[in-house]
Amino acid sequence: MDFSKLKEEIIAYSKTIGIDKIGFTTADPFTELKNRLIRQQELGYQSGFEEPDIEKRTNPALLLEEPRSIISIALAYPAKMKIRVESKKGERRGIFCRASWGLDYHRIIKDRLQRLEEFILAKIPGARLKSMVDTGELSDRAVAVRAGIGWSGKNCAVITPEFGSYIYIGEMITSLPFEPDTLVEDQCGSCTKCLDACPTGALIQGGQINAQRCISFLTQTKGMIPDEFRDKIGNRVYGCDSCQTACPYNKGKNFHFHREMEPDPEVAKPLLRPILSLSNREFKIKFGHVSGAWRGKKPIQRNAMIALAHFKDKTAVPDLIKVLEKEASQVAKGTAAWALGKIGGELALAALKKAKDRETDPEVLKEIKKGLAMIAQE
Ligand code: SF4
Ligand code: SF4
Repeated sequence: MDFSKLKEEIIAYSKTIGIDKIGFTTADPFTELKNRLIRQQELGYQSGFEEPDIEKRTNPALLLEEPRSIISIALAYPAKMKIRVESKKGERRGIFCRASWGLDYHRIIKDRLQRLEEFILAKIPGARLKSMVDTGELSDRAVAVRAGIGWSGKNCAVITPEFGSYIYIGEMITSLPFEPDTLVEDQCGSCTKCLDACPTGALIQGGQINAQRCISFLTQTKGMIPDEFRDKIGNRVYGCDSCQTACPYNKGKNFHFHREMEPDPEVAKPLLRPILSLSNREFKIKFGHVSGAWRGKKPIQRNAMIALAHFKDKTAVPDLIKVLEKEASQVAKGTAAWALGKIGGELALAALKKAKDRETDPEVLKEIKKGLAMIAQE
């Protein structure tokens, strides 16, 4: 079998199925990554969402029998919405990060990898292939960097010269001995724009991230958002793009190659108040297809309350009182109490006083007291 010819054929085919960039690397262990992950674990910088077994994350041989190469694919996603939301005075909106615009990218990448697998298997029926994206064991980023898709920026994103870092990536481990591609040179140089732009200081020099301080991670958690980050979340209901928008290599990058990635502005930039009263079914219908819905309704509702507090939206007070009085969840009630304190006013004050007498949960009570203290300082 002529594997360099097959590689050319795969590259040519990838273009026809909407893969914007493809790269090849060996299936050698990711030794440098392994050391980095151990360091991260020691420092407590991990998000907890990642595969816990560092060996599996860094050794392709544990995932596929006798692997010989890994193919990395990248699809560029849009950075700007084609259709603008209609802004009405007093109607506050939240924002989903770009990676949650349009159809869930896991589905898009899986589809392309599946088609690539079928193409390869038609050529070599005995080939062993294993594809993954994001939730797989391997680090999509480490693979993409080694396969020459882009370099790893100080913002921890893979930056391509063609599309900046606005790309979705996934990979396929194969049993086929493809020639590896060359690395893209790191072009961050002395720039620190992403570090300066990060609202929480989550980026650490040397291309590390402390997930526990990262808004993108925090918006995906299910518990109370720690106090120090609440004001910094702003109107982000899911994810954070600040370290990407700050990057000079993303300037002017805005690609609309894939129809399924086009955001519905009413979903990507949703009105905040209606989010608070969505039923599970309504949430699924409106947001179920986007990647930002993967943790369910509750974290988005909590973040929407923080965003309403950020805007000090007085019209949201009755909605927040309803949450405080009717919701069973400690996080929802606690966040509503805090948001009421932040927004302030007579109505909020009365509701918080009433809740203080009624509430028995110590965590919610703590937030009610914080809310009352904020109003007292007004
Ligand atoms: S996603 Fe936001 S919070 Fe996280 S590192 Fe980037 S700028 Fe900082
Ligand atoms: S903002 Fe500057 S330092 Fe950060 S990833 Fe982009 S080029 Fe690199």
